[in-house]
Amino acid sequence: MPELPEVETIARKLRKPLVGRTITAVEICWPRTIAAPSPTEFERQIVGQTVQAVGRRGKFLVLQLSEGATLLVHLRMAGQLLLKSSVSPPGKHVRVVFTLDDGSTLRFRDQRKFGRMWLVDDPQVVLGKLGPEPLADDFTPQVLARLIGRRSGMLKPLLLNQSFLAGLGNIYADEVLFRAGLHPRRKADSLNETEVTQLYHAIRQVLEEAITGQGTTFDGVYQQVNGSSGAFQDSLQVYRRAGKPCPRCGTPIERTTVGGRGTHFCPHCQPVP
Ligand SMILES: [Zn+2]
Repeated sequence: MPELPEVETIARKLRKPLVGRTITAVEICWPRTIAAPSPTEFERQIVGQTVQAVGRRGKFLVLQLSEGATLLVHLRMAGQLLLKSSVSPPGKHVRVVFTLDDGSTLRFRDQRKFGRMWLVDDPQVVLGKLGPEPLADDFTPQVLARLIGRRSGMLKPLLLNQSFLAGLGNIYADEVLFRAGLHPRRKADSLNETEVTQLYHAIRQVLEEAITGQGTTFDGVYQQVNGSSGAFQDSLQVYRRAGKPCPRCGTPIERTTVGGRGTHFCPHCQPVP
């Protein structure tokens, strides 16, 4: 469920408290959270490492460690990273606890158990297949035009495809297509130059606004590192608004299924192809 804006918000909030801190202990409560290496090896390698940088690539949180290793975290459906100022028992649904040299802890709570962590020397082993980073300087309308011109599939599943573009999930794909005025079932290679440019700006604007809003929280799933919710759910235009009036034209928002995913759109602003 957490998408680029949620992971970016977490990365920004973790940067100050984590950079320069050394991991003094790790407690693995649910071994399958550790995708690589083995849980025993993970513990052996990570204890004693200092966090040098906290970043993000697509929906992955990227922690650069002192010995050239990288810790990658993917929250998947319901993972949460919570910072606590003191050592206390892990608590419900906590799968991994990192203790830091200032006595604070970083907890990975994950009710659904789909979240994963990797400790790797080369992050490309995990991140190598990801498409461009939508907020990067080198992601331009020309880059999007080049990528999209080669694709004959529908826009909605294409935007969800992480090897096409990294970071979008179901919420922001719907919001982006509404902002661009494009129907989710439009074929990618049917877009003219103006429509590609609209799509490009919609992607950047929606993601930037959602980061400013510190992400979208539904059903308490996404939480910031201090346990508070995001605020962008109040700014969504179509997602989870079926039957409510389109903010642009007043037509009721519709919900349909595209590529197996629940999809929200305005039938007036996003005409059927
Ligand atoms: Zn509308």
